Amino acid sequence: MIRRGVLFDGTDKILYNKKMNYYEENAGFSKTASQIAAYEAQVQSCRDCPLALTRTQAVCGNRCYQGDIMLLGEAPGAAEDRFGRPFAGAAGKLLQQFLAESQIPAERLYIGNAVKCRPVKPGKRPGAWRNRPPRPAEIAACRRHLQAELALVRPKLIVTLGAVPSSCFMPDKPQMGQCHGKPFAAGPYRIFPLYHPAAVMYNPGLRRAYEEDMQTLVRYIQNEMI
Ligand code: SF4
Repeated sequence: MIRRGVLFDGTDKILYNKKMNYYEENAGFSKTASQIAAYEAQVQSCRDCPLALTRTQAVCGNRCYQGDIMLLGEAPGAAEDRFGRPFAGAAGKLLQQFLAESQIPAERLYIGNAVKCRPVKPGKRPGAWRNRPPRPAEIAACRRHLQAELALVRPKLIVTLGAVPSSCFMPDKPQMGQCHGKPFAAGPYRIFPLYHPAAVMYNPGLRRAYEEDMQTLVRYIQNEMI
């Protein structure tokens, strides 16, 4: 059976092509299809916070569980909620464009969100909803899924996109203007904060810093042999 981004041998074990063997040897990789299925089922059936009431569906990562670099966004938006994929909207296009320029192979990138359901607020028209940032209680409620995801992926590097995912690894509220583009250690994790692509879209003045941070990130990955 072939699923997007992952190959299964029909029993319970994930198979790899030669390129993936490299990551298995270097990341202590030991996840099975049943572990992945259990994680995704837990997220999709979760009702631990009020976002379950307004979501179309909970959104897991991009299913690239063999990736050794995790890109962690904030929460699903309208497109992600609709299609069930992270970074499916306009910000995702900008992110993909930068990643293509960075030449980081796509199979190395696990892409997900700190919060798995779309946070909304009432829109101008009756019955319409708009995106909003997740609240601290929602981030806290969803933390157990993020921890399960981290245990499953075991990334060598976590690239946090914006303040919300960065806050999951910092004791104090992160100021993106100060922490962007600078790697730091948080427990067993290596974190590299970037501005969220949506922030760059709405504030073109951040674009230059974002591009420079991407170049710093690529150099960091090369120099640290991640
Ligand atoms: S946001 Fe997270 S904690 Fe809240 S319902 Fe969705 S999966 Fe559960």
